Amino acid sequence: MSLGEMIKDKNGVVFHAYQVAKRAHEGVRRLSGAPYFSHPLAVAEELAEWGLDENAVAAGLLHDVAEDTDYTLDQIKKEFGEEIAFLVDGVTKLSRVKYHGQERQVESIRKMILSMAEDLRVILIRLADRHHNMKTLSALPAPKQKRIAEETMEIYAPLAYRLGMQRLSGELEDLAFPYLYPPEYKWIINSLKYHYDERVKYLSRVKPLVEEALDEAGIKPLLIDFRAKRYSSLYKKLLKYDMDISKIYDLVAFRIIVDTVEECYATLGIVHKLWPPLPGRIKDYIAMPKPNGYRSLHTTVLCLDQQIVEFQIRTEEMHREAENGIAAHWAYEQSKGTKKYLNREASVADPKETEWVEKLRSWQQDFSDPQEFMNALKIDFFRDRIFAMTPAGEVVDLPDGATPVDFAYQIHTDIGDQCVGARVNGKMVPLDYKLRSQDIVEIITQKNKKPSPAWLEFVITSKAKSHIRVASKSKGSLLNAPVQRFIEVKIIAEDRIGLLKDVVATISRSHININSSSSSPFGRGKLQIIKVKCETGERAKISKLIIKLKELGGVKEIDWRLI
Ligand code: MN
Repeated sequence: MSLGEMIKDKNGVVFHAYQVAKRAHEGVRRLSGAPYFSHPLAVAEELAEWGLDENAVAAGLLHDVAEDTDYTLDQIKKEFGEEIAFLVDGVTKLSRVKYHGQERQVESIRKMILSMAEDLRVILIRLADRHHNMKTLSALPAPKQKRIAEETMEIYAPLAYRLGMQRLSGELEDLAFPYLYPPEYKWIINSLKYHYDERVKYLSRVKPLVEEALDEAGIKPLLIDFRAKRYSSLYKKLLKYDMDISKIYDLVAFRIIVDTVEECYATLGIVHKLWPPLPGRIKDYIAMPKPNGYRSLHTTVLCLDQQIVEFQIRTEEMHREAENGIAAHWAYEQSKGTKKYLNREASVADPKETEWVEKLRSWQQDFSDPQEFMNALKIDFFRDRIFAMTPAGEVVDLPDGATPVDFAYQIHTDIGDQCVGARVNGKMVPLDYKLRSQDIVEIITQKNKKPSPAWLEFVITSKAKSHIRVASKSKGSLLNAPVQRFIEVKIIAEDRIGLLKDVVATISRSHININSSSSSPFGRGKLQIIKVKCETGERAKISKLIIKLKELGGVKEIDWRLI
């Protein structure tokens, strides 16, 4: 039922909540200039769209009332009952939890998950709340935009993904992306346009062939369309492929929705009869769903004109679940009763599918042991981050594999530079010790001490690396530091005044050391080949550099290799 339909019942709880919330927010505007009430309204609309019950939708309408207006939680309890008051209270508490990149992030996630275990709807309301706030983020001041975008990327998008809400998770990431990576976003938008248009033109030629073959086999698809890959996930993939868009085959993927599981497999067979599948690229997520519950058949084929195309095939129900995840499950159980749901049908993935929902429900018990909780947290949300602490309890967020020296530089450059030893959980450890989450780290410093170039062999954060290099150089040390790796970047560009200077400046701004550079004419003097030898082995850094170099005027082609 849509929110509009729910409101039609003038004796219903949703209509009541609508009126109370509208009155409570009366006269208040959001920073965007819109009436404040437009926000809870949008949240409630999304909750209704996910198929949640009337109490949850009413709580969505009231979610900011207790926090931002004179209307109190007690009044909500009196007028709407315990359940709605509990939901509103839960959302209000969650909204006080803030992620600042460094502080208290563990505690914040803990609260969030515990409350979810108590009632999943609290999380769903909070996610709808965040979704709408992200859509209207442009109205906020810049520092706040950055913080909220970061929190969305680090906490809410992974959470939505874990709950199987792939569409929401992807949308949250896409909404956060431009605020967190402005130049990368601009680059993707610019370079995507041509490839995307070409791809759509091409797939429009493929579509009738698929339709015809399905028709011959007597299969009536509910939907055949193509779906453009999301910016954020495209960017992650591009980092792996040296920012070369032509290597991304699922830039636009085919999606076929059919009636039954049997038809999914039949459709897969039909596609393979038309075009040969690429070995190793057939994924049966129906027989073996992803851990977050995702079910679908994927295949990549050598299609028309020898082009590579990805197909995704699933039923409508799988599609709905893929988009709305746990919300779809929740709605289903509400309407049919859990028991019936469990006995529903003996289809291939049933036991697995219900298992993960049940698992989510029992998370609270699973996490009675704090150590276990930390481990689960790491696996689920921050697989490659660790949280170590100073003796004063300040949390330091580091990549997995970080050492006390990385920790020291993360706190302060001087502490890093003057570091001579470290105690972890009260015991002395070597400086290349690998820190773990919850370690309490005390750095021992000595005045006027200089960092050792040998540290470059084990530190992993770029902050530590660059400071050690700078400090080693400034004291004129031997700099026989174990140099990590070199790359050679080759740039072909139209010859112009200042070209080499621009290239060198771009590389320097990326904090990459240049060892040597050369430039020679090419193609009857109209073009120049520039070769630069640089000192870095970090792929992410190289990819970012390539983007920036591609933006320089006249640049035709860029290539790089490790040397
Ligand atoms: Mn809100």
